[in-house]
Amino acid sequence: MSDTFKSLVLTQDDAGKTIAEVRQLTNDDLPEGDVLVAVDYSSLNYKDGLAITGKGKIVRTWPLVPGIDLAGTVMESTSPDYTAGDQVVLTGWSVGEKYWGGYSQRQRVRSKWLVPLPEGLDSQRAMAIGTAGFTSMLCVMTLEEAGVTPDKGTVLVTGASGGVGSVAVAILSKLGYTVAAVSGRPETEAYLRQLGAAEFVSREEMNQPPRALEGQRWAGAVDTVGSTLLARVLAETQYGGCVAACGLAGGADLPTTVMPFILRNVSLRGVDSVMCPVPRRIEAWGRLVDDLPSDALGEIGHIASLEELPEQADKIIAGQVRGRVIVDVNR
Ligand code: NDP
Repeated sequence: MSDTFKSLVLTQDDAGKTIAEVRQLTNDDLPEGDVLVAVDYSSLNYKDGLAITGKGKIVRTWPLVPGIDLAGTVMESTSPDYTAGDQVVLTGWSVGEKYWGGYSQRQRVRSKWLVPLPEGLDSQRAMAIGTAGFTSMLCVMTLEEAGVTPDKGTVLVTGASGGVGSVAVAILSKLGYTVAAVSGRPETEAYLRQLGAAEFVSREEMNQPPRALEGQRWAGAVDTVGSTLLARVLAETQYGGCVAACGLAGGADLPTTVMPFILRNVSLRGVDSVMCPVPRRIEAWGRLVDDLPSDALGEIGHIASLEELPEQADKIIAGQVRGRVIVDVNR
């Protein structure tokens, strides 16, 4: 086995500009941790796009190997929980932000961040899901817990052709929900209908500032966008409905009123994947095996190499990536 391996490394120049370059590293370059993983695949999330392009303050230590997700095989472990040969998945825990992440053929990590690769998934499929798909599942679980069942009415997914949105559309439709998909890209309508969306709603329509309350259209929603669009979703959510909010692709503000909450009993529940406790992670990964059709993942995922990441990062920040980018670190 070669002593060196490839990693994408981020550094900052004197002007504070982020530089991304593929470098050869050795095990001695890797951070401390109790498990060394041979990475098979990582993935590209919106947050990774912000880190690589330097367009968001994501990176908290320099230099950094980014990549908030990884899936691979344990090479060495001093943890009692993992032994060489175990297949593992890692998402979140500030990996790829504060700690070195998945854009590397090897990475040393903390065992408490890992979950065993669920039976029924391989590492490529796990990374087609990645943080984005895992978050979609957490959003769906949140809606279920709030009593949003398929008989209650249509569930809306915003930013639908992005990573979180695409997987949410596919899961909800497999579970029997009637799904409406909001997208700013009319050309993605056929793709979204293939994933199971029954209705296509234009982003332009949903981005109109709402009145305090609008006509009741949605039993629930998965929102990846925030801002005015989320305000409209809340104003259009039916009595007793729930909106699971996980993203800010359209902005971090929320220009709403209390009316949907106090007159329609609407709830707005936040969803975080980064610090999600391990038992809920294991539950969500298990659900992803059962509730996300494998043909949908084939539609959603496409593969990029480490070298292609800077270009793909620009695209995800410009809202031009459809579905999920799987990163083959060994290509
Ligand atoms: P993607 O870039 O893959 O998807 C985002 C989608 O949002 C785009 O594809 C686009 O969909 C839509 N969009 C982009 N810009 C705008 C805009 N200005 N106004 C309205 N819609 C817009 O990102 P991800 O799916 O990976 O992540 C989505 C969001 O969720 C991000 O904000 C991300 O940070 C957040 N997130 C949060 C997590 C958590 O733990 N809370 C975990 C993972 C992601 P379309 O073209 O179809 O309209």
